[in-house]
Amino acid sequence: MSLPRRALILLVLMLASPLLSLGAARAQDEVAVYKAAVEASFAKWLQALWPDAEAMGISRAVFDANVKGLKLVWALPHLVYPDPAAPGGPPLPKVLADQMKPSRQPEFEPPAGYFNAGTLNALAASGRSRMAQLAPQLAAMQKEYSVPASIVVAIWGRETGFGKVDMPFDALSAIATQGFMGRRPDEFRNELLVALKILQEQHATRAMMKSSWAGAMGYTQFLPSDFDKYGVDFDGDGKRDIWGTVVDALASTANSLHSQGWNGTETWGYEVKLPDKFDCTLQGPDKALPIAEWVKLGVARVKDRPFPQERLNDQAFLVLPAGLKGPAFLATNNFSVLKLYNNSDVYAIFVGHVADMISQNAPAEFVGTWQPVESFPRDRIQRFQEVLVAQGYDVGKVDGLAGFKTRRTIGVEEKKRGLPLSCYPSSALVNAVLKEASAAAN
Ligand code: CA
Repeated sequence: MSLPRRALILLVLMLASPLLSLGAARAQDEVAVYKAAVEASFAKWLQALWPDAEAMGISRAVFDANVKGLKLVWALPHLVYPDPAAPGGPPLPKVLADQMKPSRQPEFEPPAGYFNAGTLNALAASGRSRMAQLAPQLAAMQKEYSVPASIVVAIWGRETGFGKVDMPFDALSAIATQGFMGRRPDEFRNELLVALKILQEQHATRAMMKSSWAGAMGYTQFLPSDFDKYGVDFDGDGKRDIWGTVVDALASTANSLHSQGWNGTETWGYEVKLPDKFDCTLQGPDKALPIAEWVKLGVARVKDRPFPQERLNDQAFLVLPAGLKGPAFLATNNFSVLKLYNNSDVYAIFVGHVADMISQNAPAEFVGTWQPVESFPRDRIQRFQEVLVAQGYDVGKVDGLAGFKTRRTIGVEEKKRGLPLSCYPSSALVNAVLKEASAAAN
């Protein structure tokens, strides 16, 4: 009797699988041994925090209750696994080392994807109804902190979808993991201590302190130190509650923007139209000029609107998220204040634009169009940046993302090579630069 074909395949698979999985099982053991060694080193690291915690007024009881038994959250993105696990400990297994390669990280998204009209319209519509529901409180807030309510509401929408996004992590675990093996360990070590201080002072319970992977908490995503510096009790119940009280969270955000230099008489920025073949290397906050000077260079507001006469002396800088292949903006210092909240041009534009949609019924679409641009894996852009740095350029952070310093360096190179000016990565330029660098190395 012959076996049906499907059963035969199954049988072959069953026979082969122990052989196939032997290697996989060994790799799994290796990872388990490695992780156990890292956890042991993490437990020591936690205990070593005690003197600093004590100096901040944290009691031994609060320290022990919250630090003992804390485990690393291996699922967090962008971790830097120690190699070896600890001095004299097992080396980093290959499977984990591979996870850290830039090629395994997502491509950087072209800016257009950030400004989906459906998302913008939905956020603005919800934002408007929140503005109506909270009108008296928001008016009081705006008076107190000189930050438009629409900006604060836009941040609330952007950060947590008005509180709808679940915070999946125990904040202490996420923050401790970032402090032990994240990209900015010193910063997060301090955040962990401040998180303990929050618990010590009973502003929140441990159960309330849920966070994103980056340790940000509450309706508007504050790190513990943000809460410590800017958290306010706005509803007057005696508690600064960014976790469960919307008006406290929103007022805390307004307070943080105000404290970091928000100018209440000024907008965040303007969408502008550039003259043809405009020199896109003029972008960036360090190339700010009075608005009147930009006007002389031919920069105009879209829809034939004039710049407000009383603002012509304000310093403003050019922001071109997609180089000359997308909408252009003149940004004020308030834009830089928004970037302190989240250090990204597209984030600041997003928040400013949603605020304009809420308060002025601005349409979701910009006047300028996002033209098609090429996508690149981050490690390719990172390599490109490394080569540019070796040639003496300042490209900002070498991170595989095209920030304004990388974008304008691209413009300089495009001019030098007689390529069409775009100030945005193109394979024509990236390939040429990388090819020359590898030819020079050989
Ligand atoms: Ca309160």
